[in-house]
Amino acid sequence: MDKENHPGLDPQDWDEYRAQAHALLDACIDRLTEAREHPWVPVPPEIQAGYAIPSAPLPLDTLRETLVSQVMPYSTGNTHPRFFGWVHGTGLATGLLSEMVAATMNSNLGGRDHGLNYMEREVIAWARDTFGFPKTASGLLVAGTSQATVIAMAAARIRALGTEVRKKGIHGTPPLTIYSGAAAHNALRKAIELLGIGTDHLRLVPDGENGPDPKELERLILADKANGLMPMALVATAGSVDLGRFDNLNAMADLAAKHGLWLHIDGAFGAWTRLADEPWRSLSNGIERADSVACDFHKWMYVPYDCGLILIRDEAEHRAAFAARPSYLAAQDQGLGGGEPWFCDYGIDLSRGNRALKIWSALAHYGSERLGAAITANCAQAALMGKLVSTTPDMALAAPVVSNLCSFSADTTLSVPGQSELNTRIAMDLQMSGEVVFSTTVVNGTTVLRAAITNHRTTAEDIRLAIRAVERARNEKRTA
Ligand SMILES: *Cc1c(COP(=O)(O)O)cnc(C)c1O
Repeated sequence: MDKENHPGLDPQDWDEYRAQAHALLDACIDRLTEAREHPWVPVPPEIQAGYAIPSAPLPLDTLRETLVSQVMPYSTGNTHPRFFGWVHGTGLATGLLSEMVAATMNSNLGGRDHGLNYMEREVIAWARDTFGFPKTASGLLVAGTSQATVIAMAAARIRALGTEVRKKGIHGTPPLTIYSGAAAHNALRKAIELLGIGTDHLRLVPDGENGPDPKELERLILADKANGLMPMALVATAGSVDLGRFDNLNAMADLAAKHGLWLHIDGAFGAWTRLADEPWRSLSNGIERADSVACDFHKWMYVPYDCGLILIRDEAEHRAAFAARPSYLAAQDQGLGGGEPWFCDYGIDLSRGNRALKIWSALAHYGSERLGAAITANCAQAALMGKLVSTTPDMALAAPVVSNLCSFSADTTLSVPGQSELNTRIAMDLQMSGEVVFSTTVVNGTTVLRAAITNHRTTAEDIRLAIRAVERARNEKRTA
């Protein structure tokens, strides 16, 4: 065969492809319907070894068989109803449908004139309205809150230093400073490092139950101004990753306004309390006053990984931080090169996969009310877990349950090191047994069990089972 006459990479036999694809779809749906039977399991060494790239091409039926038996069983386990580790979303059945269509379309949402770009705009408009941002606000779907934070801080830096910073960098400018409560997520540190600001210029104030004390933040802002530094941004947390606490967003907004600082809100999961019933909805009151909000659809909106959002109040500031078009990307009035504005002008990536369709499908099929009811249920389940912990002898909460997080110690009769060791042991044992996934965190020097409930498959009975499992594991250790 001539080299220029390559047959392409599409299947040679579409009938065979169709048969294998249908069988695979059935296996995927089986997996979803049996989610309760499939907790996380460790990846056996022979399975890991089997992931080496095959030396000879696999026929389609072998590929399907491998995907079903060697790949699908070894997930993160976060599709299971008693997965409460870290803050992991749990996926939606609509995701299977939208990802199938997305893979078929293979769209690049960096720009140009085609359907899913319009869909991403609608998804952003929905989020903008949900958070009470003005119609003129801009946004972008990104990998997650970490990337969203970089974009927010880049826009804030433009406000502080002007667009000159894109050419000259921060050389010779007064040091920029950023202020936050100590509960700020590590994503903020990464963003500050990447933008050349440096974490020495991140001022963290200890958190109370409503976040950092605004008076203490103000004291630091004034001191920095007096010393010739340039306060740039105030970062508020709506849903802290350790304890699910919320800063007083209105107090943070007042402070930012008073000192002319950019207010960024990290609402990775907590921003979605906007869709919940009271008393949880009010936790995010004031979010509408931010200059930027970062949040994730892949956590508490349950949308399959990955998908975060950056929303920026002032479109011009957002655009000024990123827009630049070399000649080969010039805009056209008509045709595929039209479709302005292009998403590549609002963030880091030029080529961008489709993240819009999985969100759109979820919003279209479930609607905000049903999604909100699932978020409300998760908060109520965390409250139930807190109640069970408080009424189980020798167990105690490590902090009050505010939203969807519950942190506790399994045996308060032990010393602090003894509790830390026991809680870590119980987390590992229960993960290994497949009964329930807790992760751990450190509260006041003690390693405690931590449940972050962002799981629409969880029932009240799952919560009871989870606490009984901890109690049983603890009692077994006592008698061992
Ligand atoms: C998860 C999380 C982040 C980071 O978000 P990614 O989507 O993992 O990049 C930032 N802040 C908070 C509060 C989080 O929970």
